[in-house]
Amino acid sequence: MSHKIAVLPGDGIGTEIVAQAVRVLRALDVPLELETALVGGAAYEAHGHPLPEATLNLAKAADAILFGAVGDWKFDKLERALRPEQAILGLRKHLGLFANFRPALCYEQLTHASSLKPELVAGLDILIIRELTGDIYFGQPRGRRTAVDGHFPGSEEAFDTMRYSKPEIERIAHVAFQAAQKRSKRVTSVDKANVLETFQFWKDVVTEVHASYPDVELDHMYVDNAAMQLVKAPKKFDVVVTGNMFGDILSDEAAMLTGSIGMLPSASLDKNNKGLYEPSHGSAPDIAGKDMANPLATILSAAMMLRFTLQQPEAADRIESAVKSVLSAGFRTADIWSEGTTKVGTRAMGDAVVAALTTTKTITKS
Ligand code: NAD
Repeated sequence: MSHKIAVLPGDGIGTEIVAQAVRVLRALDVPLELETALVGGAAYEAHGHPLPEATLNLAKAADAILFGAVGDWKFDKLERALRPEQAILGLRKHLGLFANFRPALCYEQLTHASSLKPELVAGLDILIIRELTGDIYFGQPRGRRTAVDGHFPGSEEAFDTMRYSKPEIERIAHVAFQAAQKRSKRVTSVDKANVLETFQFWKDVVTEVHASYPDVELDHMYVDNAAMQLVKAPKKFDVVVTGNMFGDILSDEAAMLTGSIGMLPSASLDKNNKGLYEPSHGSAPDIAGKDMANPLATILSAAMMLRFTLQQPEAADRIESAVKSVLSAGFRTADIWSEGTTKVGTRAMGDAVVAALTTTKTITKS
């Protein structure tokens, strides 16, 4: 049976990196039907909306979505609802993609690319699970108004709403505990319960759900301490579960521990494991169109897609092994380059992974 994949490259480096992931997918023996559509700024320019109905329908009908990145500074002056980033928020909301998996893995070959001392990151393997459809990013009401109270009544002010319902916290807590059961059975729930009512509630609900997982160890940490511990002793974490905004910030911080945000894949899953797979980084307008972007995060996102949604773990393993062998052979894009390694562009990195896949296949068959 062929799997239907919606391919949404988006803006900036999105088109370059997704092209390489598509080449890698096509080099596998897995039957896939790939259909591409515009999203983000590219869709706004062509159709007047960052998430046109045709793109949303394609995403809904697909088994999985391979997404690049959206956004460009040139769209910053558009009204918020039409900005490219609304496309990704819209897809998460319409598809119910509430669980974001962001593994932060430090490849042995890239230990020196991290901004931390090699001994702090060697062997690092943490999984950040970020709630994706709630919190202050989606809470209503929000907007601008004239302040009626506060420090400066009568002045212009802006406000957002932070909120979480009990079922929203319960379902992400279950996802985290179940993920931990397949790893080292430890979960750190990150909150700001000392200041925020929403996150005291978060802590209470996560603790309640934990009662169903006696085999998993749970600890709680304030987000400011978690940000500090991530750079002080990152290996003491295993699974980290947190809300939308804290997860956004902490997962980018964790990304840097691994050397480059260009290495980090992500999966955003619904309750049936249908998912949107994308690199953890944005559209990097500063390097777009220069054949400089690292395509490995997107290629590794395709591997996650094969593992989580398409139930093709062997194909996922093949991609991950190919990436490791390319790194071992010394190929590096500019973001992870160091003295003594071979600097390559986006396309050449894709070539190297496709070539390594072919080698893996030959070895398997012989
Ligand atoms: P960014 O992740 O695009 O870039 C941050 C830095 O990392 C830049 O220096 C960039 O060159 C570098 N970088 C990112 N990906 C790279 C890769 N694959 N290879 C090499 N270097 C890479 O974040 P930003 O600059 O804050 O945002 C740029 C645009 O992307 C904005 O419009 C933002 O809204 C958007 N954005 C989109 C998503 C998404 O589509 N899911 C996520 C984050 C940011």
